Amino acid sequence: MAIRVLPSEVVSKIAAGEVVERPASVVKELIENSLDAAATQIAVEARSGGVELIKVSDDGAGIPSSELELAFHRYATSKMSDLEDLGRILSLGFRGEALPSIAAVADVEILTQTSSDSAGNYICLRKGEVVRREGRARPPGTTVTVSRLFRHFPARLKFLKSTSTENGHIAHLLSQYALAFPEVRFSLLLDGRLSLRTTGNGDLREIVSEIYGPELAQRMLKVERRDGLAEVTGLISPPASARSTRNYLSFFVNRRWVRSPLLARATEEAYRGLLSDGQHPIAVINVSLPAQELDINIHPAKAQVKFCHEQTVFGDVRKAIEETLARTPMAARPKAAPFSPGSGRWQSPHMIMDNEPAFAVAQLPAMELPVLRILGQLASTYVIAEGPDGLYLIDQHAAHERILYDRILEQKSRKEVEIQGLLEPITMELSPREEETLRSNTELLTEFGFTIEPFGNKSYLIRAIPAIMARADIAEIIAMLLDTLVNKESPDRWEDKIAQSLACHGSIRAGQHLSNEEMRELIKQLEQTRQPRTCPHGRSTMIHLSSHRLEKEFGRIS
Ligand code: ADP
Ligand code: MG
Repeated sequence: MAIRVLPSEVVSKIAAGEVVERPASVVKELIENSLDAAATQIAVEARSGGVELIKVSDDGAGIPSSELELAFHRYATSKMSDLEDLGRILSLGFRGEALPSIAAVADVEILTQTSSDSAGNYICLRKGEVVRREGRARPPGTTVTVSRLFRHFPARLKFLKSTSTENGHIAHLLSQYALAFPEVRFSLLLDGRLSLRTTGNGDLREIVSEIYGPELAQRMLKVERRDGLAEVTGLISPPASARSTRNYLSFFVNRRWVRSPLLARATEEAYRGLLSDGQHPIAVINVSLPAQELDINIHPAKAQVKFCHEQTVFGDVRKAIEETLARTPMAARPKAAPFSPGSGRWQSPHMIMDNEPAFAVAQLPAMELPVLRILGQLASTYVIAEGPDGLYLIDQHAAHERILYDRILEQKSRKEVEIQGLLEPITMELSPREEETLRSNTELLTEFGFTIEPFGNKSYLIRAIPAIMARADIAEIIAMLLDTLVNKESPDRWEDKIAQSLACHGSIRAGQHLSNEEMRELIKQLEQTRQPRTCPHGRSTMIHLSSHRLEKEFGRIS
């Protein structure tokens, strides 16, 4: 095919694809416009995941009557005028792309009034063209209504996830903007339900309370450091209140919500040694920098920024958080694990066989276990046992995980999950996104033995749990399950993941003393599982030192 310049209609659709990935992208652009217009109140409404309707109303500056149509022209913006401006942008928008992009993929109506125009104006667009204009009254501000998103783009529609997943994205987005702008009053209605409301009184801790619950909000630690290139402010969790994903890290650079691996690393580095593996902090971090220290024009949805002096910013953020953590009383820090392999107190069994990976039993073809006789427990972590062919070291946690994992899936397939009702139900606060996830996965969680009921504003009551979870911190596990479910793809894998999590949290830990009776029971049950030699994550449950190997090691044979 010959090279040709695409017709403008095609160009605008391609560009729209970059800006408007999913309903939440529309909400993002509209909220940013409201914030740029200095709104103090922003009300957002979405129906059917935002596909049927998205409506954003603000009390901002409004668009003058004479400029209303212009706002829907590509690269029409009131926020910059020349190349120099690009280097000192303080507004959230600047490319003049959002409104035309949205109008290219949905029906758009806009009603706006400035404080100087005598009347408000309404226009209605179809396929990017204005089809109606009329005068209409409203208080100063702007309401944009976007309906039937992607109606003419079946491929896009198909690509979208379930209504509740899309609602979840919108709820998460609103939460992030509420965190970035505590002085703005936000509200979010999802299918008629109030999902989030903030007061706009400027108190960040209050927003955290709205989103993550009052208990966590009250424990969050204040960050404030103003003597670097970057000013760093915000709130961070004490090490004892960690989460199992990075979903709770929020970064704002000059009030722009950004995804930043650099800032995430700086944050996690500050917590180094305070959190165990797989734990992540909760943090809301605002970074302010002179505009010329930033390039904000590197991402189609403006979700990333580039710092001119990356290492300096990295250091400023790390130090700000470190200083806050250093002021934290020890009581808020988690206890050290009772035994960690390689700590020098014991020689880890792995060390004997460093160069002999072939001895990890998991790699042997046979799946069944021989009959084992318990000899004792090593470091309250490993069971030592003797078999017909040598010595076995069994990781008690991994072994128990395997047992519980098989049991859960088996019970679930028979629809006979053992349930434990709670005498006193546990109350749990969920963030707007977690609520959406819970809604879309209620059935799955019920099948696994959870009974969770709504209990007023953002609160939920846990009335029953799978029996195998009895020993665990229930609220924390549910929060973690919801985290893993946020982006679930195929249901099978997620069943598996839930089973893995439950098994992991319900099982005995390293460092726990076991009686001979308990060890015997553990091994007996392990023998009955389908894959006794690996835990559900695929790691070995045991190490086998054959008689032959022992003889060789001791020089009895050569
Ligand atoms: P950009 O935000 O990059 O300027 P947009 O396409 O998002 O581009 O918006 C185009 C213009 O429309 C903005 O520059 C602004 O002047 C005006 N505008 C859009 N939304 C609003 C709003 N809610 N309040 C006031 N003005 C608005
Ligand atoms: Mg904009």
